[in-house]
Amino acid sequence: MIKVCKFGGTSMADGTTLMRVRDIVDADPARRYIVVSAPGKRFGGDGKITDLLYDTARDVKRTGHVGAAFDKVCSRFRSIVHALGLDLNVEELLMRTAEEIEREKSEDFTASRGEYLAALVTADFLGAAFVDARDVVKFDKEGKLDAERTYSLIRESLKGKRRAVIPGFYGSLPDGTIKTFSRGGSDISGAIVARAVLADLYENWTDVSGFLACDPHIVPSPEGIRALSYRELRELSYMGANVLHSESIFPVREADIPILIKNTFRPGDEGTVILPVSKYRFGGNVVTGIAGKKNFTVLLLEKSLMNTEIGFTYKVLAVFMEHGINFEHIPSGIDTMSFIIDSEELKDGMTEILEREIRAAVNPDSLRFFDDVALIAVVGHGMARSVGTSARLFDAIANIGVNVRMIDQGSSELNIIVGVDNCNYERTVRAVYEEFFKKKE
Ligand code: ADP
Ligand code: ASP
Ligand code: MG
Repeated sequence: MIKVCKFGGTSMADGTTLMRVRDIVDADPARRYIVVSAPGKRFGGDGKITDLLYDTARDVKRTGHVGAAFDKVCSRFRSIVHALGLDLNVEELLMRTAEEIEREKSEDFTASRGEYLAALVTADFLGAAFVDARDVVKFDKEGKLDAERTYSLIRESLKGKRRAVIPGFYGSLPDGTIKTFSRGGSDISGAIVARAVLADLYENWTDVSGFLACDPHIVPSPEGIRALSYRELRELSYMGANVLHSESIFPVREADIPILIKNTFRPGDEGTVILPVSKYRFGGNVVTGIAGKKNFTVLLLEKSLMNTEIGFTYKVLAVFMEHGINFEHIPSGIDTMSFIIDSEELKDGMTEILEREIRAAVNPDSLRFFDDVALIAVVGHGMARSVGTSARLFDAIANIGVNVRMIDQGSSELNIIVGVDNCNYERTVRAVYEEFFKKKE
């Protein structure tokens, strides 16, 4: 039996939390491969090491040298090493790291040092081997994970090691330079290691007792979710339930490796297990979970007989492609089509450019942008089984007097996505939660 354990930022935050990590790892000999994040917040308002390192990268760009933010990084690591009573020469390590950061002048390199240092410290503390992600997690020259090469390098380097610690969040490009995943990417690293060694289980240790039915910052103490399918997880995490990075399912799904989300601070709690649909048993709830994100823009196009105009969508998409704009959804009617775009994509005059070029490409009767839209996803395999889910959803939203700006239902009936004004986001999530989790028949 092999378990790969990933510990998130809060689990790595200080000496006390690292002692918990050691107790968890020691409690089960199957917990052989440990993937770690950089130390996160110790308390509300505290800094995350990764954020401080991004500040450091900015300092280096501006002045050529690490600055005050890096001093904070150093004192965090110093105090961890001190609290754990390690022999590790932390001063030398931090000095070398500062020199390398100043020499490399790369944002990704700088940001990756939180995981690198955390893994070195953890390996020392656990008496485990250290395997640098730079040597085993490989990207191709386009920056895409070279999965097969990565899996075989990981297998090779872990062979014969009873226990090893691997930093999350980064790997290297063909020229050896460091590249990070997007934020929260240590979850992906953990999944990659689990897939490489064909682990029986990928344990993801965090600061909540598993996936909750919605964001605990919006609904106090929402219900826990015992089991999720990979597909439900993908929908919920993509739509903002950031317990687990939305791309972390891909490596484990290939090999049907279950993910178990556990709480480092309450290790006895059951947590949430994530399984392939085939192994997943319907839990009885119509809706499994609710997630959402703010700050989208809706581009609404109207044109009579749009449905008969061959190539209409293609021409609009060509404009998006030309400018490298991603969109999230395209809900459409007979003579209308909307594009839901993350508002971040439309900075620096992009709205005006799109307006001009789309008008030239398809000559719509009307073209309008609506800003400040929040998307809320209601997700669950149970929705396909029960009649009237959408009526319940829209009634719940109408009852609080909120206007629905757009609706999109996935073709597999796994999700319904609604758009509301940003200012109504939290109360809409609360109303939907009330409807599906408090009024159970
Ligand atoms: P880690 O540092 O361990 O990777 P994250 O901060 O990335 O942890 O993810 C855990 C956090 O996700 C929780 O502390 C919680 O605030 C937040 N969260 C958002 N939505 C949910 C949800 N639906 N269920 C559980 N936690 C959620
Ligand atoms: N430390 C990185 C971040 O803060 C990666 C991670 O924690 O997963 O985004
Ligand atoms: Mg995370």
